[in-house]
Amino acid sequence: MKTIGLLGGMSWESTAEYYRLANELVRDRLGGLHSARIVMISVDFAEVEAMQAAGQWDEAGELLADAAHRLELAGADLIVLCTNTMHKVAAPIEDAISVPFVHLADATAAAVGAAGLTKVGLLGTIFTMERDFYANRLRDHDLTVLLPEAEDRQRLNAIIYDELCLGVVREESRAFYLEVIDRLVDAGAEGVILGCTEIELLVEQSQVATKVFPTTRLHVEAAVGLALAD
Ligand code: GLU
Repeated sequence: MKTIGLLGGMSWESTAEYYRLANELVRDRLGGLHSARIVMISVDFAEVEAMQAAGQWDEAGELLADAAHRLELAGADLIVLCTNTMHKVAAPIEDAISVPFVHLADATAAAVGAAGLTKVGLLGTIFTMERDFYANRLRDHDLTVLLPEAEDRQRLNAIIYDELCLGVVREESRAFYLEVIDRLVDAGAEGVILGCTEIELLVEQSQVATKVFPTTRLHVEAAVGLALAD
């Protein structure tokens, strides 16, 4: 079994899910007392969020590239960046390591393709929804990406940073997310990507008639698949 390097803390609420899911999946695949081999670096999210807000993406890229390099030195055989948003700086991270980088948008696009869908809605932070780095990566996999309306995007984003990243789960916020998913389906989406690693703390497939793609779970599945491959 290879060692998974988790680059987390963005936020730790979802990184805890990465840790739990990776161990559950390895237990399910190997049985008995098996658990995942993991090394983790967890950053201070306040520093990263301040860089996002100030548009300091180069600095954020340097911070995360350094962390990824240190994960490799600590024995990681593959690197998992536990946030959709910070894939905006995937390139400098990949440049800093010599082990595979498990790109979250690729893992998600593969799941959408495997479900036989081509037109998907995308929910996430304002950066993930409005900057092209993420949607373009999905388009590289021949997917058509639908975004929520501007006003909805603002509120979706606020719920992520003001509630979910702080461990706050509100019924009213869940209802709003479900409403936006319905609007995307009305606009033609065949499925909806929960493109922020905290959204699946709020919305579950059982609450939605349309197929949703929970990116934390999909990312962990891809990482564990690689870790257990021959
Ligand atoms: N975890 C989130 C994501 O998947 C948002 C926090 C961040 O800005 O990294 O995008």
